[in-house]
Amino acid sequence: MAWNDLPLHEPVTRAFQRALDGGRLAHAYLVTGSRMKTLELFARSLAKTLNCLQPPQLGGSGLPLDACDRCASCEKIDRAGHPDLFWIRSESKSRQIRVKQMEGFLGELHLKPNEARYKLGMIVEAECLNDESANKFLKTLEEPPPRTLLLLLTLAPERVLETLQSRCQRVFLGGEEPPGGEAGEQPWLEAFASAAASNSGGLLDRYRLLGVLTKQLEGVREEIRERLEKASLLGSGAEIDPEMGERLEKELDAAVEGEYRRRRGELLAALSWWLRDIWLGTLGTETGARQLPALASATEAVARRLKPEEAMANLEQIERTQRTLNSTNVQEALALEVGLLKLRL
Ligand SMILES: [Zn+2]
Repeated sequence: MAWNDLPLHEPVTRAFQRALDGGRLAHAYLVTGSRMKTLELFARSLAKTLNCLQPPQLGGSGLPLDACDRCASCEKIDRAGHPDLFWIRSESKSRQIRVKQMEGFLGELHLKPNEARYKLGMIVEAECLNDESANKFLKTLEEPPPRTLLLLLTLAPERVLETLQSRCQRVFLGGEEPPGGEAGEQPWLEAFASAAASNSGGLLDRYRLLGVLTKQLEGVREEIRERLEKASLLGSGAEIDPEMGERLEKELDAAVEGEYRRRRGELLAALSWWLRDIWLGTLGTETGARQLPALASATEAVARRLKPEEAMANLEQIERTQRTLNSTNVQEALALEVGLLKLRL
């Protein structure tokens, strides 16, 4: 079966099947995960399911819940030769999806379907849509032609334009590898999770959570500065003339900032993996599907308090915080405070 190509993502495909069963398919989804190949596989599986000619399972709404993988439609989609499936990707050099490409894509989407039950438009690396092509796309994204499904795929949801995000439902596929980035970043997450699990909802508790995160970030920054300073001429003990020293100092600052931003991104990504586990918990999926089994008891404790919509809102909130932090001229402490206090834990 098509969905079975994605065994690791079973909880998500199951949630999707429930939506199909109830006829609650949205017209646009923003699909995120850790590998583009998997996201494309997910998109193809969904395309196959919607258009399968001999679906092994039909839902209450009359839509197929799975694909046979053998009929003419399924085969065409596997060979990427289906006339009602449209893909758009960034040009390799510019890493942008240009307005000219978008115009072509929209032209295809607005044609009558050739043979399919559903037409599908897939945007690979949705963060590559620039302002101009996104603007061109908005109207169709808001109101696609009948029986048309739009899938925006991205590994960097925090870089997808807000105007696009807000018009899509979210699908979090999760990762193939355990998250967490560099070693040493898990203990803080454990501290964070257990503080959140015993959280009474009061403001003081929320500031305690914020404290766990900012303390970790401070430690990361210090460690980076120390390491890079040692590696630079400044840390060598050699005599340097003041002008040269000043220049090196500036270079060091820039290097520390760059590395720090990268690590901060990883740290918040690890936090979002945990929030995703909580979301899965609220859906009542089996605990074996969790990315962070070490945090299981905290995960279940928080999941019991939340509705799936609230858990999903948390995931969106952490992305918004990442996006704010990535923009220039932002005060980190303020962005983190605002972002973290909005989480429902
Ligand atoms: Zn089929």
